[in-house]
Amino acid sequence: MKILVVNAGSSSLKYQLIDMETEKVLAKGGCERIGIPGSLLKAKGNGGEKIYNQDMPDHKVAIELVLAALLDKEIGVIKSMDEIGAVGHRVVASGEYFKKTTLVTPEVLKTLEEKTFELAPLHNPAAATGLRACMEVMPKTPMALVFDTSFHATMPEKAYLYGIDYDDYKKYGVRKYGFHGTSHKFVSSEAAKYLGKKPEELKIVTCHLGNGSSITAVDGGKCVDTSMGFTPLAGILMGTRSGDIDASAVEFLARKKGMSHSEVVTYLNKKCGVAGISGVSSDFRDLIAGAEKGNERCALALDMFAYQTKKYVGSYAAAMGGLDCIVFTAGIGENTPTVRAGVCDGLQFLGVELDEKANNAPNDGSIREISSKRSKVKVLIIPTNEELVIARETAELL
Ligand code: AMP
Repeated sequence: MKILVVNAGSSSLKYQLIDMETEKVLAKGGCERIGIPGSLLKAKGNGGEKIYNQDMPDHKVAIELVLAALLDKEIGVIKSMDEIGAVGHRVVASGEYFKKTTLVTPEVLKTLEEKTFELAPLHNPAAATGLRACMEVMPKTPMALVFDTSFHATMPEKAYLYGIDYDDYKKYGVRKYGFHGTSHKFVSSEAAKYLGKKPEELKIVTCHLGNGSSITAVDGGKCVDTSMGFTPLAGILMGTRSGDIDASAVEFLARKKGMSHSEVVTYLNKKCGVAGISGVSSDFRDLIAGAEKGNERCALALDMFAYQTKKYVGSYAAAMGGLDCIVFTAGIGENTPTVRAGVCDGLQFLGVELDEKANNAPNDGSIREISSKRSKVKVLIIPTNEELVIARETAELL
């Protein structure tokens, strides 16, 4: 069976077509600037690449163009739309309404649109727009919703609750949900495979360090705690997000900066993190170049990022009562030796010892072991593959 994976943003739509027998990516690409002048689709397939400079006023036109690219005479990989067995849609937030991957029915669509938008106002409406567009263009094809939050549904109450009035948690669903679940699920299960162990035998901390970053404690194959919270603003500082901050500082900043509360939240999402600390960039390549040239604030941003990540690793080792493996993944986790070294430095007391040469070796896209032979805790770099998890979950559901 072939599964189409769709990840829709407000003005973008990324896709992959995956053959589930071989788990090979047959085609992939993305529409950019949907609803904005100058929209285009970059499509790869059948050994070639094609750019479609075509007006895309909405997501429906975008998905029609994606299907045209999949059927294209030169770069196409299918002969008929019927070859697509199902579509898996990435959805960021589920709230407590969906615990696992869910087949779309009119009722499911209603819940998605009426209940979850306020939980992820930037992401979930875009996912629903992409879903509706696919349903219109491919009315007979089953659609599945795969949530970033599902892997975290196994967290115990003591881990996901905030210290607020319990009745308010019940009434409003204000609690930790966690994000990047498909990535944490994928890399933790790949780690077990790599180590030749059953997931049940392992205590793993997975560090998804990218533009958005989160750290998860995976005990026996199940998530028991994670750093992101009610929204993806929580946890460590990120590219432009502040990470955890005292709630009182929000009110204080609103007063001092003459902003509304929601403006401060936008500021904490868009203007803070390593970009705010460094004053230079949210991109770690720029921060490393800056620090090498002696920019102290770039160095400070890198230091804070590694320090905060390390604290999560240590606290999750305590939460699980042990640690067998640390996994680094995503743009920064896979590509930035200085960050990995900074995270591991100081964790020697837990039995973590890095192999400097292995850590500094260039990224070749494979799974790499970067701990020394003596290290009690295995440290691995595992490239993430969220699309494959979405495709697997969709196929399993069918
Ligand atoms: P992601 O959100 O997983 O795509 O990660 C994006 C971030 O990864 C970028 O903002 C960069 O900071 C970082 N990144 C990507 N490639 C590299 C690289 N070769 N070296 C250092 N950082 C990188």
